[in-house]
Amino acid sequence: MKILIVEDEPKTAGYLQRGLGEQGCIVDLACNGIDGQHLALAHDYDVVVLDVMLPGIDGFSVLRTLRARKQTPVIMLTARDQVEDRVKGLHDGADDYLVKPFSFLELLARLQALARRGRPQEPALLKIADLQIDLMARKVLRGNARINLTAKEFALLVVLARRQGEILSKTAIAELVWDMNFDSNTNVVEVAIKRLRDKIDAPFSPKLLHTIRGMGYVLEPREKDAT
Ligand code: CA
Repeated sequence: MKILIVEDEPKTAGYLQRGLGEQGCIVDLACNGIDGQHLALAHDYDVVVLDVMLPGIDGFSVLRTLRARKQTPVIMLTARDQVEDRVKGLHDGADDYLVKPFSFLELLARLQALARRGRPQEPALLKIADLQIDLMARKVLRGNARINLTAKEFALLVVLARRQGEILSKTAIAELVWDMNFDSNTNVVEVAIKRLRDKIDAPFSPKLLHTIRGMGYVLEPREKDAT
């Protein structure tokens, strides 16, 4: 999931950025309405988390400007005593709201629900041969064996699984999983692919994660590597 957080309070912003990063999300942070609006319009996020009270432009104005151009799901953060804000936010096109202080797990559940709504055709379970990826529970099985992945390994596997049978370049993977745009950083991809392969493929057959020399990687069932 790629998420934009627009929040001016450094403590809340830092906490959300860290927590969502640990869940394998790519997180951009804006600490005022002007930067938040710019980022929300310039990039395609799965969800925008938008505080109401912001310096520069307030959250409602950001929401209205965004809604004039895009349907990115938005969850608004409001203070406890601002009940009218919630009504106004929903009226202006917010998809959901949370009242501060909120629990991180509740925010996470709402974000996942909104991101899923943005991709209605996607099943909650991705399958390649006997590999199963449960996107909600974030569980991976190969046959009956549970495979434990780090957050980044899981994100990498999901990116490949959503495009199974398609060759993905290192640059594309770096951008989709790490939000990096530089070819020089693709060594990170090689290292992560090796770790992922050791976990999902090494003890199993058929092999699923293949290197296509000079092109990238593909996830599909084959008896052995073609290269
Ligand atoms: Ca605020």
